[in-house]
Amino acid sequence: MNPLKTLVTVSVTLSFWLATPAQAALRVLACEPEWGALAQELGGPLVDVSVATTALQDPHQIQAKPSLIAKARNADLVVCTGAELEVGWLPVLLQQSGNAKIQTGQPANFAAADFVRKLDVPTQVDRSQGDVHAAGNPHIQTDPRNIALVATALAARLQQLDGGNASGYADRARDFQQRWQQAMVRWTAKAAPLKGITVVSQHKAFSYLYDWLGIKEVAVLEPKPGVEPSVSHLQQVLASLKAQPARLVLYAAYQDGRPSEWLQKNASIPAVRLPFTVGGSDGAKDLFGLFDDTTDRLLGAAGAAK
Ligand SMILES: [Zn+2]
Repeated sequence: MNPLKTLVTVSVTLSFWLATPAQAALRVLACEPEWGALAQELGGPLVDVSVATTALQDPHQIQAKPSLIAKARNADLVVCTGAELEVGWLPVLLQQSGNAKIQTGQPANFAAADFVRKLDVPTQVDRSQGDVHAAGNPHIQTDPRNIALVATALAARLQQLDGGNASGYADRARDFQQRWQQAMVRWTAKAAPLKGITVVSQHKAFSYLYDWLGIKEVAVLEPKPGVEPSVSHLQQVLASLKAQPARLVLYAAYQDGRPSEWLQKNASIPAVRLPFTVGGSDGAKDLFGLFDDTTDRLLGAAGAAK
């Protein structure tokens, strides 16, 4: 090997190790990838982030496996969506962890949905038919304005829990918000042609995205959030599109796309797979990529559908 190249490799490796603290100040366990990505943006080298789920898993349905319980046991902060998204697994995980500081109501238990205005809040709660959105729609990360609100609250929480590094978190939060606001201006301008288009959703996963971009949801393939559509229900949705046509049918990366593909074939509209969270597509490598890719996919499909 070229000695100069060896020297460069050694010095790059050395500077990497020097830049990495021996022990990160705060161990963060995020329930979903978007909050892991946000904690990383706001904490940088001050945090050690692990994420309980991937973009290809349904966040409503996760097993509290021993490896996850071990992570919860050692966590200094858990960052989850709340609004009952994790109601099927997080209470078990918290209880099994034996970690008193991350229990509900403690400062080290952060629920993102507490800091945004919730949509689809039912007037009557009825979980008996399998509705998994009984506390309102929990998929708040599909609107970048919500990310900004949660970022403000999460930065404050990091400063509260790790006071010694408060100025570091404040600097990173300021920098993130500046870059985020600029990106939102760019996305909003780029996505303007989507305003008023009509769509069908497979799961009620994108209410916040539609609220942000002025997209109109005319039908949902799941008869209730979390309930798989039967063929007769799909037929009903198809029939309803005669009176109220839709341009696209949208589903999240973690979902089995077959109901959307059925509608694509039978209604002759494009089925669009959206990343839904960080890691849900090759383009959604971080929070910025998530919205770059989401708007690209919607614009591409809506253009093709004209
Ligand atoms: Zn849902």
